[in-house]
Amino acid sequence: MNNPFDPSHIQEEKAEREARRLRLRSNLLIALFCAVLLGFAAVLYQTQIINGDNYLINSDERDLQREGVDSVRGEILDRYGRVLVSNEVSYNVELDWDAMGADRLSILAQLLDICREEGVTWADSLPISKTAPWIYTTDTPLFYESKTETDDGEVEIKTIRTFLGSLAEKEACGWAKDVTKAQLTAGRLLTTMCQTFGLIEKTDPPRLPNRALTGTLAAASQASGLLDQSGSVTQADRELAGVLYELYLRRYGVNNNPYIFARGVDITFITKVKEHNLNGVRVEVSTSRRYSTSYAAHVLGYTGAIPAESLEHYKELGYPMNATVGVAGVELAFEENLHGVSGSRIMELDSDGNIISQEWQKEPEPGDNAVLTLDIALQSTVEDILAQYAARKPEEERKPMAAAMVDMTGGVLALASYPSYDMTTFWDDYADLVADTVNYPLYNRATQGTYAPGSTFKMLTSIAALDTGTITVKETVQCNGRYTFYSDAGSQPFCWLHSGHGPDNVTQAITDSCDVFYYDVGRRTTITKIDEYAQKFGLGEYTGIEIPERKGHVAGPETSAAYGQSWYDGDTMYAAIGQGMNEFTPLQLANYIATLVNGGNHYQCHLLKEYKSSDYSQVTEVYEPELMNTIDIQPEHLAAVKQGMYDLSKTWSMARWFDALPVEVGCKTGTAETSSNAASTNVLFVCFAPYDNPQVALCLVAEGSDDSSALAEPAAGILAQYFSTDSSLNAVPSENTLLR
Ligand SMILES: [Zn+2]
Repeated sequence: MNNPFDPSHIQEEKAEREARRLRLRSNLLIALFCAVLLGFAAVLYQTQIINGDNYLINSDERDLQREGVDSVRGEILDRYGRVLVSNEVSYNVELDWDAMGADRLSILAQLLDICREEGVTWADSLPISKTAPWIYTTDTPLFYESKTETDDGEVEIKTIRTFLGSLAEKEACGWAKDVTKAQLTAGRLLTTMCQTFGLIEKTDPPRLPNRALTGTLAAASQASGLLDQSGSVTQADRELAGVLYELYLRRYGVNNNPYIFARGVDITFITKVKEHNLNGVRVEVSTSRRYSTSYAAHVLGYTGAIPAESLEHYKELGYPMNATVGVAGVELAFEENLHGVSGSRIMELDSDGNIISQEWQKEPEPGDNAVLTLDIALQSTVEDILAQYAARKPEEERKPMAAAMVDMTGGVLALASYPSYDMTTFWDDYADLVADTVNYPLYNRATQGTYAPGSTFKMLTSIAALDTGTITVKETVQCNGRYTFYSDAGSQPFCWLHSGHGPDNVTQAITDSCDVFYYDVGRRTTITKIDEYAQKFGLGEYTGIEIPERKGHVAGPETSAAYGQSWYDGDTMYAAIGQGMNEFTPLQLANYIATLVNGGNHYQCHLLKEYKSSDYSQVTEVYEPELMNTIDIQPEHLAAVKQGMYDLSKTWSMARWFDALPVEVGCKTGTAETSSNAASTNVLFVCFAPYDNPQVALCLVAEGSDDSSALAEPAAGILAQYFSTDSSLNAVPSENTLLR
């Protein structure tokens, strides 16, 4: 019998568990690939057996086509192996111009009928409204002017036609060579297109007078007083024209991507399409992303078609132009690892566009799985707590919030921005999300929102003052409620406590948040030294996180100059209490606290923990924490600053929340005027725990609020989740966590 305390036995058991987990894992993957193959088989069965007659008749008219094939995209997991984003098999409909042949219009009309019956939406990028009255939906010009200088110094103006412009012009044979946009209304263009496509009868178009090239599509739609002719274009004509435009664009235009007519269609739809035996309408098996969490939307991001501006980049990487790529969040940041290597296949087609056979020219290689530093249980708690906190106000008064929580080496544990959104319903909600120009839910305030830190900056001023020898830990500054050093210049700024704090040393000044202490100490430390320390703590610097972030800036002569403002000596006082032009992101502030309490090691922030191979059998890359710089903080100085943060956590307004926690904390509040509106303030809260051996640092921001101590409650709620028994249970990777 095995001795349960024998280490080798434990090792064996671990190995056995690991092996079992991997077997299950690879079975899941095999199931996925089988599903893909079955999909292909279904298509092949359809083309070879059901359409067997066609195949025999046309077997002498075969066509070989090469096609890029996307690899299976890696999954995204949280730090404990909980799957956040995975793949599901989906079916796309693609159209083949040649295979549709002379029946093209009838085939497409039938296809659109099926779509309408089944409620399937299809891709249509024609920039003309989908319902009458016909108007342009973009401002993109139809014609561009191109100026070139000839050898003898003359400027030659040429008109460059977009495909849409040339399509209308080419087919409208009687038209003047340089027909203007102002004359080409959306209705006229659509009419011409419908005539070109054979949807409506062709009439001789009137000859148009020449005019200067001006305006844009939208302007043009309003400008022309000419006869529109579009009365004969029906809704169905417009819809067919949209599909034909996509096909023409690929056949005669510059777009070489296959036309994916519809994505993610279901079996009922596929069956109907097959029943109608529509030549040139192909169902392709693909995969799409499946989100297992409705949280962390700003971090996860999403995938989509290659954006136009990145086509060259991905072409160089060997991607097929119809590849799906990361467009935002870590999907974009980790694109090359998640994507794997695209492959290609050679398909043999009959003259109806049915696939007779296919073989790999190059088999695609699946991408790696990305394991994030994020703890999704913690993340969901943080997002819920922010939403609950905001919901204390009536809906129309709710203001944005942000939170960032990091470990001691820059690993991001949670990153939240309120209001947020839900990736599982993102595309359904998209229009509403974009339309919200009050709170901008798509904006990630945790890394892109910059805020004056207010008094949360005072620890930094303290360290700068102590380490430069400007003050000692015992030295006190007398606060009588006003700072009188600049009295001669007519300036006597108040401490927030107008009655004064009396003599405060640095520890007391942090607990009391005494402004007069920092006016004086800041002035003596000098802005040069304060800015030097801010930089060392990563404030006003990029944190290095993999998703988009803003840099912000430190208050100081350089920043003022950059904004065309003057810097005065007295400004140092305000910089020292975190006002003025100090503006930092919540993530920078969390990482600054981590840098402080870990003893001065400033690490780059990161969301990547490691990559695992597609079958999870091996770790292919581990993120090694990257030390940016070290601040040589004297232990005695750090102890004095931390003590001030600890004592604050024991004051009544804080202790009522923090005393219930299983760990001791250190904290600091901050209130700061917003840069855009002096009448409105933001509040901030930073904290770390456990006090004796810090593991995490947290920053919370609430916009448009003035009660910074109120943030102690949500902060305590977040720490409670992190240090709860539940959470530590989650921290043990069990064999089940990888299996969802
Ligand atoms: Zn004071």
